[in-house]
Amino acid sequence: MTESVLLSVAVETPRYSSVGGLLDYASEQTLPPGTLVRVPLGRRDMPGIVWQRSADAAPATAELRPLAAVLSSLPPLADEWRELIDFAAAYYQRGVGELALAVLPPDLRKIDDTPLARRVARLQQRPAAADTAALATPSERPELNAEQAAALAAIGAADKPVLLHGVTGSGKTEVYLRAAEAALQQGRQALVLVPEINLTPQLEARFAERFPRHLMVSLHSGLTPAQRLRHWLLAHLGRADLVLGTRLAVFASMPRLGLVVVDEEHDPSFKQQEGARYSARDLAVWRAHRLGVTVLLGSATPSLETWQRALEGGYLRLALERRIGGGVMPTVKLVDMTRLPRDGAQERVLAPPLLAAISERIARGEQSLLLLNRRGYAPVLHCGACGWKSGCPHCSAWRVFHKADRTLRCHHCGLTERVPRACPDCGNLDLAPLGRGTEKLQEQLAALLPGARVARLDADSTRGEGALQQQLGAVHAGEVDVLVGTQMLAKGHDFRRVTLVAAVNPDTALFSSDFRAPERLFALLMQAAGRAGRDAAQAERSEMWVQTWHPRHPLYAALKAHDYEAYATAQLGERRAAGLPPFASLALLRAEARTVEVARAFLHDASSLAAAHAGVTVYPPVPPPVAKVADVERMQMLVESPSRRVLQRMLAAWLPGLHELRARHKGLLRWAVDVDPLAI
Ligand code: ADP
Ligand code: ZN
Ligand code: ZN
Repeated sequence: MTESVLLSVAVETPRYSSVGGLLDYASEQTLPPGTLVRVPLGRRDMPGIVWQRSADAAPATAELRPLAAVLSSLPPLADEWRELIDFAAAYYQRGVGELALAVLPPDLRKIDDTPLARRVARLQQRPAAADTAALATPSERPELNAEQAAALAAIGAADKPVLLHGVTGSGKTEVYLRAAEAALQQGRQALVLVPEINLTPQLEARFAERFPRHLMVSLHSGLTPAQRLRHWLLAHLGRADLVLGTRLAVFASMPRLGLVVVDEEHDPSFKQQEGARYSARDLAVWRAHRLGVTVLLGSATPSLETWQRALEGGYLRLALERRIGGGVMPTVKLVDMTRLPRDGAQERVLAPPLLAAISERIARGEQSLLLLNRRGYAPVLHCGACGWKSGCPHCSAWRVFHKADRTLRCHHCGLTERVPRACPDCGNLDLAPLGRGTEKLQEQLAALLPGARVARLDADSTRGEGALQQQLGAVHAGEVDVLVGTQMLAKGHDFRRVTLVAAVNPDTALFSSDFRAPERLFALLMQAAGRAGRDAAQAERSEMWVQTWHPRHPLYAALKAHDYEAYATAQLGERRAAGLPPFASLALLRAEARTVEVARAFLHDASSLAAAHAGVTVYPPVPPPVAKVADVERMQMLVESPSRRVLQRMLAAWLPGLHELRARHKGLLRWAVDVDPLAI
């Protein structure tokens, strides 16, 4: 018998998280790292990836189990890809095996070698695209303006990540297209990341139109498993030259990767919020830097982290300050709600001047967008007789009243029930909705603006297949006068007839316990403003309205001046003074249990363990804003250090101890760490 060798294989199993999910197996032959295999684990076969030969030609010991199968038809995953996984696993404190397998298409984890070989062969038959530079030269494209041309030249010469800071409609996408063209001409692949699936079709269309002879694939969670496998394989085999996707696409295997674009880099959707809580934006920067290829971060309102990096010179900042075609940004109008007469006669729908401005638009055949970040009809239903409120029995939250289907719905656990005919506590028949959501605003506007076509766009109205595209189509076709919706409205859409955007009630974010809430609000309002006046002919009379009880808040002053820089400077000053990111590094330890006591006790013990590690501050455990979800109590504890490196070292030393600690807390369901948490 020939001597077998020992291979270290990445497998997805939390049980072996202490070794990072890297287990040793015996193999008849040496296999290159990155090879997909199947391995026995307990009584089952699991997918795995050869991570390395544990030692140089170490002979396998007798106890080692042999590999179950080798999927040799798939070219091995590149060193570069495995380094990305190694880095991300270490940085976000996850097992290598868990992360490596979790980011592969689910179907790839199940497939056997024979069907895989057939698929690979079929995909390999496609004519390879980027063989000649001529292919990459598009037939039609606009002449770059001076700002764009300067930016493109600087990108070509850049030796660090590039922040492309440009107002909405300033031609950032055109710069991405040109940068991609340069990459394609060199026979390289380009990866383009967008924050949300909803934003992919528009961008996909622009890339497809520009590069008709290059294969482009998308990678996001909206694909069927079969599509996702196919697209992933086309990228991995180097057949697809362009990959466009949401955060998970940052892990696409691309052997000729030559450019990474992160559009709307400030968007919180780039942060994965469960499992391995990674930031696709940050990983994109790391990956590109490691490969020595360009990474473009584009935004009108960069994250303060990115902005600070640019100020320090770590990133190259390139600015596009003018809208294409000379359009001006809309005039920002603040409505001081404290000065409206409090007649109390009827619930005020909108401030009278705003309502008048909308009516004017309707008369001119223009459109208005109204932003209200709360879906449903009313956030809570209330009994005036006994004080009953529509709380969720399983969560520390109210159930939202949805009038369209007459339900009470918990937006946290999903519990949905018919609206009770009478108060469950006292039998009173008169239950009243408190506050308002998008459904109610739509209803109120329809009553106030007779004959106007008032539509609504939110997660509820766009639930069905194709519903979103259909509703957007109606807006584009001019079949809607007033569109009410959640922040979904603000993102990306190129509505040509919109000349008024209004934020109906944005103040709550100003005083949130989450220190990032104002930053997000500012970005949202700037982005919303960018929806108005996209047609340069109408830009002059475009307006962004904000109803506020705090008209002198500096955030609104900066919005009025369209001055991102002033806002960023003020915010960074506050963050620096308070010792918050980007001037400190944070991690959040979360615990979930059936009772608050168990969750708190676990975090207390974890905190005691942390005392052994210097250089970090561990704050007392606190409940998150919604503490109980689906009968699970949640507590969290913040860990902070002025130094990212110190925090990393501390976490690496601290967390393994928590695995053991867990066993001592009966009733603890889960714990997890969130490095660089976004929502606090
Ligand atoms: P952004 O991504 O910054 O919002 P876009 O790249 O989408 O901006 O550009 C806005 C509009 O202007 C698009 O319709 C685009 O086709 C057009 N455009 C961009 N650059 C130019 C240019 N140099 N000349 C003419 N039109 C352009
Ligand atoms: Zn009652
Ligand atoms: Zn609930």
